[in-house]
Amino acid sequence: MADQVPRLFNHAPHCCDVKMDRRQTQSNSKGNIGRWYYTCVVGCRRMIFDDWEGIRDGNPLCRCRHLSRGQVERDDFYIFRCARGRCDFKENEKDVWL
Ligand SMILES: [Zn+2]
Ligand SMILES: [Zn+2]
Repeated sequence: MADQVPRLFNHAPHCCDVKMDRRQTQSNSKGNIGRWYYTCVVGCRRMIFDDWEGIRDGNPLCRCRHLSRGQVERDDFYIFRCARGRCDFKENEKDVWL
């Protein structure tokens, strides 16, 4: 089933000048079980999901001019971030409506 999920990346992204590692989530604490993601193997602990979860038409564009990914973060805030982790775009859902 998880293999049917469309991938966001055609090629492994780089972080800290090294190819990131593709792994699958094990924890189900947030309903994220079985999601593929890339992680930095060098140690900066960056993590980018390799799926289209939360990336929808109408989301704000990040600085790379792509649709951002919306996700629930700490304290149940809905945050939009660069879907591919290439820029430091960050927008709270509240800001969208102000
Ligand atoms: Zn890194
Ligand atoms: Zn971006």
